[in-house]
Amino acid sequence: MSDQPTPMMAQYLTIREANPGALLFYRMGDFYEMFFDDAVAAAVALDIALTKRGTHLGEPIPMCGVPVHAAESYLLTLIRKGFRVAIAEQMEDPAEARKRGAKSVVARDVVRLVTPGTLTEETLLEARRHNFLASFAHVRDDSALAWVDISTGEFRVMTCPPARLAPELARHAPRELLAAEGSQLDDIALEAGAALTELPAGSFDSAAATRRLCALFHVETLEGFGNFTRAELAAMGSIADYLELTQKGRMPLIRPPVREAAGGAMQIDAATRRNLELTQALSGGREGSLLAAIDRTVTAGGARLLERRISAPSRDLDLIHARQSAVAHLASEPRLTADLREALSRAPDMDRALSRIALERGGPRDLAAIRAGLTQGTAIAAMLGCDDIAVLEQAGRDLTGHDALIDLLDEALVAEPPLLTRDGGFTAPGYDADLDDTRRLRDEGRGVIASMQADYIAQTGVTSLKIKHNNVLGYFIETTSTHAERMLAPPLNERFIHRQTTANQIRFTTVELSELETRILNARDRALEIEREIFARLTRAVLDRAGPIGQAARALAEIDLTAAFADLASGEGWTRPQVDASRAFQIEGGRHPVVERALKRKGEAFVANDCALTAGETPAIWLLTGPNMAGKSTFLRQNALIAILAQAGGFVPASHAHIGMVSQLFSRVGAADDLARGRSTFMVEMVETAAILYQADDHALVILDEIGRGTATWDGLSIAWAVMEHLHAKNRCRALFATHYHEMTSLSARLPGVENATVAVREWEGEVIFLHEVRKGAADRSYGVQVARLAGLPPSVVERAREILHQLESGEDEGAGKPAALLDDLPLFRSAPPPAPMAKPKPSVVEERLRALNPDQITAREALDLIYELREGL
Ligand code: ADP
Repeated sequence: MSDQPTPMMAQYLTIREANPGALLFYRMGDFYEMFFDDAVAAAVALDIALTKRGTHLGEPIPMCGVPVHAAESYLLTLIRKGFRVAIAEQMEDPAEARKRGAKSVVARDVVRLVTPGTLTEETLLEARRHNFLASFAHVRDDSALAWVDISTGEFRVMTCPPARLAPELARHAPRELLAAEGSQLDDIALEAGAALTELPAGSFDSAAATRRLCALFHVETLEGFGNFTRAELAAMGSIADYLELTQKGRMPLIRPPVREAAGGAMQIDAATRRNLELTQALSGGREGSLLAAIDRTVTAGGARLLERRISAPSRDLDLIHARQSAVAHLASEPRLTADLREALSRAPDMDRALSRIALERGGPRDLAAIRAGLTQGTAIAAMLGCDDIAVLEQAGRDLTGHDALIDLLDEALVAEPPLLTRDGGFTAPGYDADLDDTRRLRDEGRGVIASMQADYIAQTGVTSLKIKHNNVLGYFIETTSTHAERMLAPPLNERFIHRQTTANQIRFTTVELSELETRILNARDRALEIEREIFARLTRAVLDRAGPIGQAARALAEIDLTAAFADLASGEGWTRPQVDASRAFQIEGGRHPVVERALKRKGEAFVANDCALTAGETPAIWLLTGPNMAGKSTFLRQNALIAILAQAGGFVPASHAHIGMVSQLFSRVGAADDLARGRSTFMVEMVETAAILYQADDHALVILDEIGRGTATWDGLSIAWAVMEHLHAKNRCRALFATHYHEMTSLSARLPGVENATVAVREWEGEVIFLHEVRKGAADRSYGVQVARLAGLPPSVVERAREILHQLESGEDEGAGKPAALLDDLPLFRSAPPPAPMAKPKPSVVEERLRALNPDQITAREALDLIYELREGL
């Protein structure tokens, strides 16, 4: 046994070494094989068999493999599990390698590095979602974020201070984040659900970036695209560099970069997105999210656009108004809208077809998708016919002027082309005279074989004689061995040349048959070659018009989204909100789209509610009290969602809405458990609240639900109180504040901008009825005692509770002056009974253990262990 690796293993090891950090898919015939640690890891991840093949340094080599034809689904599993995969293909025909000598190995090379952010295959992508690759660059005091979707070509960049990185990542939800080595963005990437890929500092060099970007866009200078900062260039350049690295020179079709102004969109941070369940429900799926409730788009492009708009509602008044006008127009034309939606539903995803074509991963079906998309687009443009609605007029223009390309594709492609170019058969008859001739020859050959077989049967008298084909012999004549003697004797043996004898058959050929075979093979090869040329010509024609096709795709998405909003507005009775630069927030008859939908399914009605967060010109804060389950959270969230929908350009679930531009939206919920991140609930709550107090400007909308709940009552109340004062005096923004600390309702008397509101409940024949009606004023505090009675608490206890409650409530608030006196003013503090003078009992073991414990410093696991342990001792 020698330690020398085989030539193939030597090649494998070289390629392996050149591609660190990725699993290597090493092509061997019809399989991608993995060896060594790759094989061990992949076998577990894919749940496939691990075998061995040969030895290396005296040890057996672990191996596993996946068939090439099914490789995509395995790839998807690996990518989802956080792997990156380098694909090494055979770069030549094995016959050529054999010609070089018996020991020669087929040349192989990595043709692509598959990573979460660089997927393009239809099967690996979610059609209705973007697949963003983002990059964060830091150059001196400046930093920037760039993001690209290589499956649609969308490329954007913005200046982004490190503090804004997390919310921006939350907005785009990239699958992969690039950053310079040592940037320590692991936590931020994890939080955003993105795989972090660290690149050497050279990838972020801004001078090299300019060169790379000029090459990517085939321009001499980037000035035509705008003025970029060095950090922005570095972020974009690193993406160009990474694409070159992963796509191995086959560059995807990327649109020129668009620079996003920081103030262009409503700022919504990650916690707010989660709380409001904008694109994902708290349970993790799309179902139950705002997006799922309002998505009536019929194309994948439209769905992706909706997700973008909801994730980043605009702050550009003109744009919002233009989009609203388009929705209003289509809402007033239900017939037209229905026709448009029907036509749109037949338009394929041109963006993604185009990107596959550019990456040379496209097939005839992608060409057909472009043809169908443009054809539908032309029909849709003709249906629109409205000149005075800017958004639709622009879309109509982008959808026209593609006739030449449509004609070409119509003429060249059959109606239903095959998926792959490999076997040909996608070119329409009549398009290329040369191809038609060659195909005729090929097909006639097949006819000639049939008649040749009939001739031979007549000549030999062997009725079971057949002409067959296999990959080893090509065409051959076959008879059963019972006729062997006749065939092998004169005169037949002069014509029929013996080729092979098997158990039951003998096989022959003839000069005639070999000649015919050559002609057929030549014709087949020639036909395939002509079709390959035609495919190349057609893809060039498509790529020459990549820009206009991309615009047409966006126009379809825009029309789809507009029609979807219009359909939603008319179907659900939504209205056009008045959006302006003021700080108004007046909602009449507002509803929560997701809760309403859920109730409707159960046959229940949603109670609409008003909300007015402006007193004259000054913003106001509503302090909302009411028992659990009354509908406080629903009310808070519905108002935030209405603001989002309004600025996304849609109509809103309300009978009337006037919304002054919201610059930032914050939503926090007290006591949301966050054990996954290893911080205590209360800590998370406070960190998130601090972010609001620091950041919220006077156009912000803040929603706080039970803030302070995560700690002891008095602490919680004090914190909620102080937060409220800060919002009122410093941030001066519009806010909705739900609390179960009834003591806080006295704040409205002290702070001019604070109003009390409550969600009404009623007791009727001993039952509590939730009215879900929001009214001005404080909550009815006797309610808790009522519930206790309903729950079966002994009547004496209920009576005693009533007495205590009465006592507590009778302490009038005289209105104190200094903040220091504040706590004393709170009725509950003042009424707290003095500690009873009695001998302290000795604390139990359990109490002692608990007292010694700092809950913030133990993990959930340790807490559980402790509970078991304490229970043992009882
Ligand atoms: P709270 O925050 O006061 O505990 P929620 O907002 O969670 O209450 O609401 C509790 C339940 O009441 C919701 O799940 C919903 O089914 C119902 N509900 C809330 N608001 C309304 C409403 N306006 N109309 C009808 N049902 C509502």
